[in-house]
Amino acid sequence: MTTINMLKTNIKKWTARLLSELLIQLIAASILYLLSAVGIFLLIKNKLQLQVPLWRVLLISLSILFGCLILFLIYSSRRFPKIKYLTVGDQKWKTIIFDSRHFEVEKNPICKEHNLPFISGSHNIHCPERRIKLKCKNFILHEDHDKTYEIAKSYIDKMIRERNY
Ligand SMILES: [Zn+2]
Repeated sequence: MTTINMLKTNIKKWTARLLSELLIQLIAASILYLLSAVGIFLLIKNKLQLQVPLWRVLLISLSILFGCLILFLIYSSRRFPKIKYLTVGDQKWKTIIFDSRHFEVEKNPICKEHNLPFISGSHNIHCPERRIKLKCKNFILHEDHDKTYEIAKSYIDKMIRERNY
């Protein structure tokens, strides 16, 4: 399996887990909320002997629930993975940040100057501008690729922790 496919699989798993967690929390919170609202209403109605119909209380409760739901969704959307292009040396690295401790870096970097993903050559991976205009000297030898990738990941780890992504 290629790195990109592994990355896609991990994102799908993460998103599915996050969505199922959110759904369970949402259903539990809604049931708890409605039960509390009806309970409080019945208590107040009995104590004060109010003539407010139940449907009106349910309507108000549902309106408040809808407002809470919107706030909850706004809050939850911040928990989804973020994509950043982080610069280390002459390259930018596509990084998917799940949270401050979990991230994935794509194996192929992007040329910082030309903003183009590296392509594979016979001896190296390089910026496509190298082939087209023979100008860009941004490349990584195949034998150095793993080491450069590890170094970039180390710097990215530091950036994520220090910048609090
Ligand atoms: Zn370039």
